[in-house]
Amino acid sequence: MTIALAATVAVAATAVVSGFGMVGSSAEERDANGRLDVVASFYPLEYLAKTIGGSHVQVTDLTAPGVEPHDLELSPKQVAAVGEADLVLQLKGFQPAVDAAVKQAAPAHVTDAAALSPLVEHSGTGEDGHDHGGADAPDPHIWLDPSRYAAVAEGVGARLATADPAHAAAYRANTEALTAKLKALDADFRTGLKNCAGKDFLTSHAAFGYLADAYGLHQISVSGIDPEAEPSAARLAEVKREAREHGVSTVFTETLASPKLAETLAKELGLKTAVLDPLEGVGNGHDYFSVMHANLRALQDALGCTA
Ligand SMILES: [Zn+2]
Repeated sequence: MTIALAATVAVAATAVVSGFGMVGSSAEERDANGRLDVVASFYPLEYLAKTIGGSHVQVTDLTAPGVEPHDLELSPKQVAAVGEADLVLQLKGFQPAVDAAVKQAAPAHVTDAAALSPLVEHSGTGEDGHDHGGADAPDPHIWLDPSRYAAVAEGVGARLATADPAHAAAYRANTEALTAKLKALDADFRTGLKNCAGKDFLTSHAAFGYLADAYGLHQISVSGIDPEAEPSAARLAEVKREAREHGVSTVFTETLASPKLAETLAKELGLKTAVLDPLEGVGNGHDYFSVMHANLRALQDALGCTA
């Protein structure tokens, strides 16, 4: 009853304000079902919108499950959806097609995850002078460090509360619950990766730089930041030398990119392969936390960690 009344008052207030030529009031940003229309550019942002927004938001993910998000292409319909959204969640510099759509369609409100947790460059992603994809580009994979992901979650929660003040308390409570879970996940990684025989791991694309930084590990990557980039012969030779030098046991493959190169490399070096998932598209009943726990177990196996 109280909520219905509040909504009525809010709508009335909007009508009055609109009468004076001011638009963009929060009450106008909700669809016919009273839900905020949120467009997220790929899985980690979709997960935040759904987890924090709950039943008060309608979330559309621009990247379908099973699609590699770096080189996403958008349909005209998706570009229109970006323009009509109440709130767009993106990570500037990660998906050029989304950057272009936001520029073209000019949605009312955009939240850039990179503004909530600043990007840095990572070694092993292009500083050696070879052009193997996104050389010298900032690393976008902030969501793979639970602490940085929590900072993005807080920003998204605050943005939802501003856009839809009627449900601000729910957004705040959901944000707190999520960041508490991320804190516990961070503690699991810290404990789980404390006593390990090695600290170097080999991946196909350089998605795990922030994770490596957070837990004192070292990522050696074959392809750089873009999973589709073809490594040069010189880079491959360098990776093999590094892998031998650091006693790497495992070549990590991932779920969305082709494992062919990693498998060839593993064969040549006589190493195992295992999956380390960069969480760029998640399906099959998994979510951020189940995949991150699987990643922790995979790292513990590869690095010879003892609990
Ligand atoms: Zn990536």
